[in-house]
Amino acid sequence: MEKLIEKKLLKAEQTFQEWKKVPFEEKQKLIAKAAEIFKSKAENFGKIITDEMHKPISQSISEVEKSALMMNYYAEAENVLKPEKIQSEYSISEIHFVPKGVILGVMPWNFPFWQVLRFATPAILAGNTVVLKHASICFGSGNAIEKVFIEAGFPEGLFQNLEIGHKEVEEVLEHSIIKGVSLTGSGKAGAEVAATAGKNIKKSLLELGGSDAFIVLDDADLGEAAKVGALARLQNCGQTCVAAKRFIVQKNIEFDFLPKFILEYKKYIPADPHLKESKLSGMARPDLADDLEKQYQKALDNGAEVIIPLERISENEFNPGLIRVAEGNPILLDELFGPLGMVMIAEDDKEALKIANDIPFGLSNSVWTSDKDRQHFFIENLESGTVNINRMTSSDPRFPFGGTKSSGYGTELSLHALKEFVTIKTVLGK
Ligand code: NAP
Repeated sequence: MEKLIEKKLLKAEQTFQEWKKVPFEEKQKLIAKAAEIFKSKAENFGKIITDEMHKPISQSISEVEKSALMMNYYAEAENVLKPEKIQSEYSISEIHFVPKGVILGVMPWNFPFWQVLRFATPAILAGNTVVLKHASICFGSGNAIEKVFIEAGFPEGLFQNLEIGHKEVEEVLEHSIIKGVSLTGSGKAGAEVAATAGKNIKKSLLELGGSDAFIVLDDADLGEAAKVGALARLQNCGQTCVAAKRFIVQKNIEFDFLPKFILEYKKYIPADPHLKESKLSGMARPDLADDLEKQYQKALDNGAEVIIPLERISENEFNPGLIRVAEGNPILLDELFGPLGMVMIAEDDKEALKIANDIPFGLSNSVWTSDKDRQHFFIENLESGTVNINRMTSSDPRFPFGGTKSSGYGTELSLHALKEFVTIKTVLGK
């Protein structure tokens, strides 16, 4: 292992030995301070995001502001890690929550500040220290985040950006100092990292891909569903794990809903990401645009019909596409991570549910209906970590976030996330 990386791991361990003793409320004060810095420099940090992965600048700034809001949520959160006293026949009868130590975060480029801070904040508040392996195109974001932790007054070594490629992750994760790993990214990366963690008996948390359904039923507000649906597919240039990727429309409203949806969809026109009014820009890397084009072709080769053609207009930009896909098309086993949506038609609620669940992923789903019984049916039966009724999926720090099936396991956000990287220790005595 490179000397510098080894040195950083040793520093992280040293800092952990002191950090774990700092009272919860003191840790919260530092998190509040960091949140303040992120908020006050949101424009500067937004520019780093836009430069690195081409997100429209207003969305980059919102990402940093949302990260600050999330940190404030934890800065004011109830201390659920206090030792719990349990009534029993023992004179000492308690449950303690003990931080694990140095946790590795392996993070993606699509929300370069949000994903990192969403993982790191509760891990740190629980008493752990963090080392980051950021996406290779986002080292600038990783370094900027590290600087904020220092500026806020956290001890040196509490949060360190490692600047390593993905080939080096295995060696770092195998190091005895690393006690757990949280990965947000593709299924392939998740499976490899989880295999290494498993082999070394280390805790892992995986936030992976999705192909969320956006189900529009015949009693929905179709105008609102069309407008929100286009945003849910195309914000962040379609590169969002919880983007609506499959629009499942009830057959009897197909000709009411689709024209409205197409109208809204066509409002997203690629523009310079540095312009504040830009809603859509290029994908993060040209090779990802190549992949999306190949997937488009694969869908068409297997019988998909074009509703709006996906048109490549530069090495990483597209005019967004929309295709009509029938069950059985192998493209449904893929995640489309870019500006390409799929429309599917369902006769009734039962068929819509079947189509929605019939994929490997289980991240989040959105259902549009004003009927309480229909809402209840989907809430009970959709196989996903989140169900939204008459709203698109967007995470909220107060609520847990995580997937099921091949979308991963473990929980981020909410008070539940505070217990992901702790050992729950039983203490009994006579
Ligand atoms: P990715 O290629 O899997 O990369 C994610 C991170 O994993 C990067 O830091 C990457 O490093 C690293 N990595 C890649 N292959 C690895 C390997 N074999 N071993 C160890 N680390 C490896 O994913 P991405 O393209 O950046 O992000 C898009 C994916 O993330 C999509 O599938 C999306 O749905 C998912 N995602 C999920 C959530 C969620 O909360 N569920 C949120 C956001 C994104 P390099 O950059 O050096 O390759």
